[in-house]
Amino acid sequence: MKTNYHTHTRRCGHAESRERAYVEAAVRQGFDVLGFADHVPMPYENFRSPIRMQPEETAEYVDTVKALREEFRGRITLHIGFEAEYFPALFDDFLRMLEPYDYEYLVLGQHFLNSEVGGRYMGAAFDSADTLDALVDQCAEGLHTGAFSCFAHPDLFHFTGEERVFRSRMRRLCREAKACGVPLEFNLLGAGLGRNYPNPAFWEEAAAVGNQVIIGWDAHSPAWLERSDLEAQATSFLDSLGLRRIDSLALIRPRPRF
Ligand SMILES: [Zn+2]
Ligand SMILES: [Zn+2]
Repeated sequence: MKTNYHTHTRRCGHAESRERAYVEAAVRQGFDVLGFADHVPMPYENFRSPIRMQPEETAEYVDTVKALREEFRGRITLHIGFEAEYFPALFDDFLRMLEPYDYEYLVLGQHFLNSEVGGRYMGAAFDSADTLDALVDQCAEGLHTGAFSCFAHPDLFHFTGEERVFRSRMRRLCREAKACGVPLEFNLLGAGLGRNYPNPAFWEEAAAVGNQVIIGWDAHSPAWLERSDLEAQATSFLDSLGLRRIDSLALIRPRPRF
């Protein structure tokens, strides 16, 4: 099966096009499954995020994909999800905010530590082992909530300190994901744009731990779904490490805890 569970839309402010253009591109490219996982709104007080949809856009997003799912039934399977950080202080409010909507899954995409508000993007270079430890702790806590179907770009953290330190922390992160049964995503956006991820050292650790891996396109434009060259490179890289690839995710619909 050709699948992708990591698709954005223009609502997040840094992706192109509406849902329909992604669905049409996916059909043309022979995808069996297309999952939307646009950047989730967050229940911030007095802060308007520049990188995610706003809370008031949630209903339209979900309704749009639901309508397309019916229209394209028999040609492609569509799923409704979100890419979300695990921010401990907001997590319960966050799940309650999403509760009214018919979404099907969340992918963990930990772009920030603790909060986006005043926070630093963790794909920017840093060399503090303490920061890396804090990130691993936070991701592990998020994975253990059972709320996430997949761990997107788990190697996004751009640690520039000693490789020995990076590997030991990433091995722990891979073990936590495996213990929670959460597959790791090999991210084709990072690969195609030449970012610091996918990081081969990370994937060697994942191979040693024996994680399950799914390829995620992280499409920010419909044309990105045409990049089967990246998919082929990723497949051969993962196979060379003996990593187990999967092509579908368990759709987990988390419920608020309180
Ligand atoms: Zn992301
Ligand atoms: Zn993404």
